[in-house]
Amino acid sequence: MITDSVTGKTAVYGIIGEPIGHSFSPIIHNSIADELLSIDMVYVPFHVTKGNLEDAIKGARNLGIQGLNVTLPYKREVIPYLADIDPIARQIGSVNTLKLTDKGYVGYNTDAVGILMSLKRQKVDLKDKNVLILGAGGSAYAAAIAAASHFPAKIMIANRTQDNAIELKEHVAKTYKKVALQVVPLDEIMSIAACDIIIQTTTVGFGDLIGETPLPDTSFFKKAGVSTAFDLIYLPWKTQFLDDAAKSGVKNTMNGFNMLIYQAIASQEIWLGIVHDDEVKDQKLQTLKMYYKSMNNY
Ligand code: NDP
Repeated sequence: MITDSVTGKTAVYGIIGEPIGHSFSPIIHNSIADELLSIDMVYVPFHVTKGNLEDAIKGARNLGIQGLNVTLPYKREVIPYLADIDPIARQIGSVNTLKLTDKGYVGYNTDAVGILMSLKRQKVDLKDKNVLILGAGGSAYAAAIAAASHFPAKIMIANRTQDNAIELKEHVAKTYKKVALQVVPLDEIMSIAACDIIIQTTTVGFGDLIGETPLPDTSFFKKAGVSTAFDLIYLPWKTQFLDDAAKSGVKNTMNGFNMLIYQAIASQEIWLGIVHDDEVKDQKLQTLKMYYKSMNNY
């Protein structure tokens, strides 16, 4: 049998991170390229070990790798090795997408787009809403910038390490001077009078913390009038946080799978200079969701 899906002319893209073996991104990108674009590209995982990031970026450039996604733990660390960084990535303070140019790689961040598209798909509008962000790690920066750019009434940030929450608040305030921002200690969350949307960005509920939630007092959902609970985690499909929210009558509960797909599609749009319409994105999302769920027996 002759296999001609990769030839001498095939453009190479990929993802760097550590670990990388669990990544669903190669399946997303290769299937979108095949099915939607009929484009001659291949997307491969690259495991970059600690201390080798600079060499990896130089090597990738010299090998002519056209674009890379960047995942943990390199989303911030990679910035010094880039030729430039786009304004949204600069606002967020990290990159997840690199595009090869004559000068080297230019960094972008599509996580905020992924968050905004996920909310839009559920018809959730951030305007004039009280938004609570749980967490202050890398993805909380994308969530906070996404929310701040859509005229919320207020953004509240609650995190295990209060100093990190304060740092995030100050970071957002540098760009969005008019947005009301408040740090709420995790143990004072019940003092919040009104909260429409919660974006759960901590790792609580994932990996070793499966079955745990950063919001153990589930009466908060009803008391504060929460109508949307968004957990960035998608493995497990339904975290304890989302289960509690659904059982407490929260109207919209959503996990991070849609965000994963939308941020990937946004990366491809940057690399290829194209824009898919929302209907096409949704179709692809449904196919990938069915595949992912059957793969994981959900
Ligand atoms: P980071 O490591 O940057 O941040 C982790 C956050 O979780 C911090 O706020 C940290 O608090 C908090 N945390 C960790 N352990 C605990 C604990 N035991 N109790 C309370 N809080 C804790 O991770 P990321 O922001 O990059 O990712 C967070 C989650 O979002 C991950 O589960 C990841 O899979 C998911 N994600 C999903 C994406 C998608 O496309 N759906 C994209 C990106 C991320 P502290 O500051 O106190 O350490």
